[in-house]
Amino acid sequence: MKTLKGIGVSPGYAVGKAIVIREALIDINSSAYTSAEEELKKFQSAVAVFTKKTRELIESLTRSAGKKNADILNGHIVMLNDPFMLSQINDSIQGGKTAAQATDAVCNSFYDMFATVDDEMMKQRASDILDIKNSIIGILCGENGVAIEDVPKGSVMIAKDFTPSMTSRINRENVYAIIAEAGSVTSHSAILARAIDIPAVLSVKNASELIKDGDLLAIDGSKGKILFDPDQETVQKYENARQSYFEEKASLAEYFSRETVTKNGVKKAVYGNIGKPEDAEAVIQNGGEGIGLFRTEFLFMDRPSLPTEEEQFEAYSTVAKAMGTKEVIIRTLDIGGDKAVPYLEIPKEDNPFLGYRAIRYCLDNPDIFKIQLRAILRAAYFGNIKIMLPLITDTEEVLSAKALIAECEKELESEGVLFKKGIPLGVMIETPAAVLIADELAKIADFFSIGTNDLTGYVMAVDRGNGKVSGLYSVQKSAVLKAIEMTVKSAKSVGIPVGMCGESAADSELIPKLVEWGLDEFSVTPNSILRTRKEICECD
Ligand code: PEP
Ligand code: MG
Repeated sequence: MKTLKGIGVSPGYAVGKAIVIREALIDINSSAYTSAEEELKKFQSAVAVFTKKTRELIESLTRSAGKKNADILNGHIVMLNDPFMLSQINDSIQGGKTAAQATDAVCNSFYDMFATVDDEMMKQRASDILDIKNSIIGILCGENGVAIEDVPKGSVMIAKDFTPSMTSRINRENVYAIIAEAGSVTSHSAILARAIDIPAVLSVKNASELIKDGDLLAIDGSKGKILFDPDQETVQKYENARQSYFEEKASLAEYFSRETVTKNGVKKAVYGNIGKPEDAEAVIQNGGEGIGLFRTEFLFMDRPSLPTEEEQFEAYSTVAKAMGTKEVIIRTLDIGGDKAVPYLEIPKEDNPFLGYRAIRYCLDNPDIFKIQLRAILRAAYFGNIKIMLPLITDTEEVLSAKALIAECEKELESEGVLFKKGIPLGVMIETPAAVLIADELAKIADFFSIGTNDLTGYVMAVDRGNGKVSGLYSVQKSAVLKAIEMTVKSAKSVGIPVGMCGESAADSELIPKLVEWGLDEFSVTPNSILRTRKEICECD
């Protein structure tokens, strides 16, 4: 079966017939220049039509995707009314260009300016400008755009790019999935596709050439997988998956605004795990009550050098602001093991999982560690941030980190920089050593979070990547269960909160035990939040 792969940005499954949206060829030179006054009038009336149409789209999108998502289109109205852009269009018209030519030239120059900056937000602006340009020229030249609204039921739409206005015109009853050559997880088309709950695969190279109208496609919107001409068995499999996806969604929807409370009234919390600031949106959209693990190492990976204090401050404060009063637990740099950061030039080790990693690296490199701590303390001013230390094996490590935090607080104070003092400091329990001294750690930590991903491997002395022994890598092994229970009890006996941020926090088989032992907070991948809440609420 021929397949194509892209970035899966909106989950769900679909089987449907391809409709390739080709850009309408509009001739911007089709009308002759009249006079500056006339052309200006034409432009202004096109802006009025655009604004009216966009307002109508906003209204319908607010109903289907919520006000926040609809605001993306509001941004288009604001952009088009930017005085600098309007004055350039005006100048261009005064200089002898028709309304369509002036719009084309000015939008193209704005597009070039935004598209060349290596920043996701700027690239987004570029795509918005293109969307505005096409709409205005479409109105001026009598082209109403592609009839996206009218595609038949069971369609999979393919385009070079789905601009926000295109995405918002999609009839979700008829369109089963969308595929585009451009876009990423954070592009507006992805945000809107998730909001209206249509599977979407973006960044599929040459999709609009490789896929032909009428091709039968099976799509997995999480994995970004596209299958051509699937056989009957595959069609059935994808259709069943689509059905169960909708059924599960419907059964979980009621848990979005419900409190996480067990049947006998014990309050728990379900948080989300994130790796990038923009992931906070997925936690909010899935009803997360906070962020239980911000894996900051991703800010250090896939780049040529260390992120600066400012860059880190920007990332942490963006999440803090997005979450408002909700808790955001920022884990300090956890590199080494399977997370390589080449520019740090950590020498190759025989046993990287037992080596120079996480807190060990940070305490040995206080200059690097302090930059991160300063950025976190400053970001804490803007929200409800807590710090969490990875791979702790000794109380000394926590005390050393505390001393460095105190140093950073002093520095920031003397520099007169805004920051928050005395923010809670937690410890990850992910090594057998930490479990064994959990009673001691509980006296110097403000909270625990159990990292079952590492804990399982270290307790069972097993490499999960080694097929011959991977059967031992299970949270259900009695030694791992005991380690978890001991940790929760140690925290409870001192009265500090205890959470879990390893994958097992969403393990249906484990959840009842965690509830029974008294775990307070379950931090899971954003799309497991509602199911985890449901399962906790069903515990007695
Ligand atoms: C863990 O070990 O359980 C954990 C949450 O940390 P990571 O998966 O990032 O190592
Ligand atoms: Mg870990």
